[in-house]
Amino acid sequence: MIMRMGWRSRGRFAATLLAWMVISPLLALGIEKPDFKPGYNFYSPQEDVQLGRESSAQVNKQLRLLNDPEVQNYLNGLGRKLVAFVPNDHPEYAWEFRIVNSAEINAFALPGGYIYVNRAVLEAAEDEAQLAGVLAHESGHVAMRHGTHIASQAVLAQGGLALLTSIFGQNDSLANQLAQLGLGLGVNSLLLKNSRTAETQADEVGAYILYQAGYDPHAMVQFFQIIAKKYPQRTLQFFSDHPTPENRIKDVDREIAQLGPPRGAKTDSPEFEGIKQYIAALAPPPSPQGTPKIEAKKQPPPPPSANLVRYNGTIFTLDYPDNWRVQRTEDNLMLYPSGGMVSGTEGETAQAYGATVSLYTPRQANWGLVDATQELIDSMHESNPQMHVLQQTGMNLGGNPALSTLLQNDSPIEGQKETDHLVTVRKGESVLTFVFVAPSGAFESYAPTFDKMVQSIGLVP
Ligand SMILES: [Zn+2]
Repeated sequence: MIMRMGWRSRGRFAATLLAWMVISPLLALGIEKPDFKPGYNFYSPQEDVQLGRESSAQVNKQLRLLNDPEVQNYLNGLGRKLVAFVPNDHPEYAWEFRIVNSAEINAFALPGGYIYVNRAVLEAAEDEAQLAGVLAHESGHVAMRHGTHIASQAVLAQGGLALLTSIFGQNDSLANQLAQLGLGLGVNSLLLKNSRTAETQADEVGAYILYQAGYDPHAMVQFFQIIAKKYPQRTLQFFSDHPTPENRIKDVDREIAQLGPPRGAKTDSPEFEGIKQYIAALAPPPSPQGTPKIEAKKQPPPPPSANLVRYNGTIFTLDYPDNWRVQRTEDNLMLYPSGGMVSGTEGETAQAYGATVSLYTPRQANWGLVDATQELIDSMHESNPQMHVLQQTGMNLGGNPALSTLLQNDSPIEGQKETDHLVTVRKGESVLTFVFVAPSGAFESYAPTFDKMVQSIGLVP
């Protein structure tokens, strides 16, 4: 199920989003640095570095690095030139650049400045500005501390800081804390799963860095577009870790206009062209060695644990199996087993197993539950064209009238159907929605867990 419920349910988050990305009015006069505001964060910049270091130790074991001094030198030089202009830089940040010897087009940044670029990015980039754009965008994720922001969201989702300090002793390592939060380290870490909001911010910071360093700031977004069109099969991972914001170009163009007259619009360098030729002459990348992500997903997740734990939200409570992960994004809460999230047909992350909770605001505040639920189903239909209703019945949720709807849809797992159990209940002017999903072939084995979860739903007055 792809939970893209349309803009109406997003309205209430617009305020937070704006607060996140306020750009100083002085900027328009070209006087001051833009005021890039990172999201909330419970970790210190030193902890970003610690986490990044532990994580990169794992990544270095999981991926094959291209340890070629010539290419490494070039990348270090370009990287250093760019990070000199990183806003909100901290002296502790490592700013280490590594090249992964892979034919997949991918790049990612771990907290604290550990940046990885696949060899294929250098091969696909048409000029130095495009490669600089990728590095600048990744530096934007580091500077805005998106990894530990995601970790902080997970902390909040699991009951907040008080709970965290009571569960984790003073000496518990950050890596252990993350494991407890279901985030993990390494190449599959949820620390890398950026939201569209975070992408927009990384774009903005990236464009700013490019501009300051004298490159054409359009190059970054141009590169994302080129690779999406030219190499759709080789960019799956990239666009799953970096979901594409709507209006990406428009947003960046608007920011560039605010930055002032161009400082130079350097696009290429002889060094870049030299390195491209040098790489072309190297042995081709080894065939992927048990690449974790896509392969691992073909295996069904482990069965749900019979032991349920409680999620205490601000407006509802819900029990879920203790071997599931909890992920809060800006507009929903996802609970799922390991391997329950997969790459959909367009490279977006989609849920194949588990539950999603979100709040839907119908067009008419005075609509009854049936009409509001129908509108919700219609809006879900937009991102899930194959979806249809199997049956609908009324039910009771702790004294509140609720609606239970069974749906069938195409599973994001290729060639499979999925069954969705949608439960809706009024909460003020909105509708609290719970979607429980599993591939149709496995739904029966998940149904007892889903039923227990539905029975556990409590509304916080
Ligand atoms: Zn990104």
